Amino acid sequence: MAKIGFVGLGNMGGHMARNLVGAGHQVKVFDLVESLMLSIEGASPQPSAKETAADVDYFISMLPAGKHVLGLYESVFEYFSEKTLLIDCSTIDTATARQVAELAGDRGLSMLDAPVSGGTAGAEGGTLSFMVGGAESDVEKASPLFEIMGSNVFHAGATGSGQIAKACNNMLLAIHMAGTAEALAMGGNNGLDPAILSEIMKRSSGGNWSLNVYNPYPGVMEGVPSSRDYEGGFLVDLMTKDLDLAMDTAAASRSSVPLGALAKSLYRIHQQNNDAGGLDFSSIQMLYTSHIENQ
Ligand code: NAD
Repeated sequence: MAKIGFVGLGNMGGHMARNLVGAGHQVKVFDLVESLMLSIEGASPQPSAKETAADVDYFISMLPAGKHVLGLYESVFEYFSEKTLLIDCSTIDTATARQVAELAGDRGLSMLDAPVSGGTAGAEGGTLSFMVGGAESDVEKASPLFEIMGSNVFHAGATGSGQIAKACNNMLLAIHMAGTAEALAMGGNNGLDPAILSEIMKRSSGGNWSLNVYNPYPGVMEGVPSSRDYEGGFLVDLMTKDLDLAMDTAAASRSSVPLGALAKSLYRIHQQNNDAGGLDFSSIQMLYTSHIENQ
């Protein structure tokens, strides 16, 4: 049984901490929202992040953005003991991930950037994919915990590599979701049934994850956000955040990402013009089909 400190118990972190408790670990938790701490049965709520950092084998954070991660670690570094392995699972910019790991290193502490894919369902079910940057030996040390919270663990490379892998993946996700919505709308505009067109493309070379398991066209697939008015799922607000991070990653490496940049603009227009920030990201379909609904 390991001693774990966990900070950030929101939509993702709450489930992740609960799964660690469920596996028999001793988990201290902290969030700015007290009710979230109390909702993790079997965990030990703490008065602040400092107490959460003291005397633990692992310290895990799951926060909204880079500024929260930097602020948290700067406030707790002095409370860690040397044995504590630091693991940030938030999706943040690579520069901040590297900066925080370097600050940790200056104090003799090891740190991993370990963003996840799989959404809230993956967090709840313990089936997340972890994309991890840092030293191989630290990844091995953390793997038993990753395997409780997830079903895939990838060592992407050195510090920051987890965040780069996450930015690449979500940029591609935005591109194939927008492309899938565009093709389905064009078929519909030409009189095709989107369900039949989806079956054709799934079994042809247009098949892709968005089409196969997350169809954006309302009424085509059961159990996905497009069949419940785009409620739940992975929010447009989070996708635009991830696309901003992808654009930062591209700029830092002088990479040309014309499709990623276009996908980001499409998502931004959708977010602003359709007030869609709180909808699932497959609602990008609305950009292409609103004229049908308005007729
Ligand atoms: P969330 O906003 O639901 O949760 C963040 C939590 O952090 C909140 O409960 C907030 O009170 C807490 N918090 C913020 N600053 C804090 C501080 N200084 N000390 C203690 N607690 C603090 O966000 P989420 O959906 O759980 O996402 C967390 C991270 O995971 C984000 O970086 C997000 O991009 C990433 N992510 C989210 C999803 C998803 O589907 N929600 C999927 C993959 C990755």
